[in-house]
Amino acid sequence: MPGVRLILLGRQGAGKGTQCVRLSRHYVVPHIATGDMFRAAVKARTAAGRRVKRYLDGGELVPDDLVIEVVAERLGQHDSKVRGFVLDGFPRTVRQAEALEKMLEPDRIDLVVDLDVPKEIVLARLASRRVCSACGANYSLQVPPKVDWSCDVCGGEVIQRADDTEVAIRRRLDLYDSETAPLIRWYGEAGLLVTVDGQGSADEVMDRIVRVVDGRRQDVADDGSW
Ligand code: AMP
Repeated sequence: MPGVRLILLGRQGAGKGTQCVRLSRHYVVPHIATGDMFRAAVKARTAAGRRVKRYLDGGELVPDDLVIEVVAERLGQHDSKVRGFVLDGFPRTVRQAEALEKMLEPDRIDLVVDLDVPKEIVLARLASRRVCSACGANYSLQVPPKVDWSCDVCGGEVIQRADDTEVAIRRRLDLYDSETAPLIRWYGEAGLLVTVDGQGSADEVMDRIVRVVDGRRQDVADDGSW
């Protein structure tokens, strides 16, 4: 199966992480999540981790230059060059999107999926979200791990993310409106954007995304340019 170069946009709590894991398996491409990369760096106390910790804790955006450097390094690796990728949490600003365009030249992004979930719903989801501190698997107060807050996948400790406090959640959602919403317009004008309803079960949402991605592949293949 040919690879794909996909971006998933959507408010925090819209289900991007869950869908990106599934899409990366489905299309056999790496799942590149800047938030996961930064959390891993903070946990490992690397130099980059020390630089980004205060932004993550406060729900602030990491400065563009630093994010762009990390992503450029990752996209330069063999797997994403050959297969493509599904990008989760990047780009988040128009400046990051412009930098991404340059990194990929002469290739381009195939499709940008905006996973649409209303703000009131993501607020409730984020307040109850729990994640595995070791592998990042997602849970919630409604759907906890089977045994004692130990991850079903790897046995790691399942916790509330440090930036899932009410103050940090509100800050991240405000930043999404001010910084990332213009990006949605930008990709819309470039003809790359598809909005997908992010409500419903993970399977239902996945089906919707795969349908639009495959539809797009078919259109472009008919055009001879995919
Ligand atoms: P996420 O897991 O995508 O919600 O990201 C967690 C945190 O990592 C964000 O609140 C930011 O502090 C930082 N972060 C992740 N991706 C980016 C990005 N593309 N630009 C700036 N900051 C980012």
